[in-house]
Amino acid sequence: MEKELKRTGVPDNRDVDSVYPGKERLASGAVAVLECFQRIPCNPCATCCPRKAIKAFHDINDLPIIDWEKCNGCAICVANCPGLAIFVIDENYSPTEALLKLPYEFVPLPRAGDEVKVLNRAGQEVGVGRVVRVQNPPSFDRTAVVHLAVLKELAREVRFFILGGAEGE
Ligand code: SF4
Ligand code: SF4
Repeated sequence: MEKELKRTGVPDNRDVDSVYPGKERLASGAVAVLECFQRIPCNPCATCCPRKAIKAFHDINDLPIIDWEKCNGCAICVANCPGLAIFVIDENYSPTEALLKLPYEFVPLPRAGDEVKVLNRAGQEVGVGRVVRVQNPPSFDRTAVVHLAVLKELAREVRFFILGGAEGE
């Protein structure tokens, strides 16, 4: 793990690049990104994936390794990761927007159609997004997965959101 990441807890571009799918895979549909940088005893991502896209761990402290070709972006791992370290990105959701599937553990849950403020990895507000769908089945055990449409140019930056749209709305 890079020193700066260890100090701040916020991954920089180099950290993010190291776990991001290549352009070609991103262009071909929804895919999971695992921003898991710290060796900790944790493996639900590897055990929950129905497509076995995340390699079985040899050691419980292993960092996850994903085969992006097997991943279909279902987001089951997003809900199962206790570290909230996984999200799904679909870069070509519309001509102007990408779709992010983000874990969300607060109440109230947003609703489809809500406009929300979107935040980067450092918690800074970088724009607005639109909630498209909220998945919260019992099998997700209270970690909802919120499908959020954001401008394509923000897709790589956004990792969280807060309820409430642009000022004055
Ligand atoms: S998004 Fe679905 S298919 Fe992809 S790694 Fe996660 S659980 Fe597996
Ligand atoms: S479940 Fe999440 S925190 Fe645990 S190893 Fe997998 S990606 Fe990392």
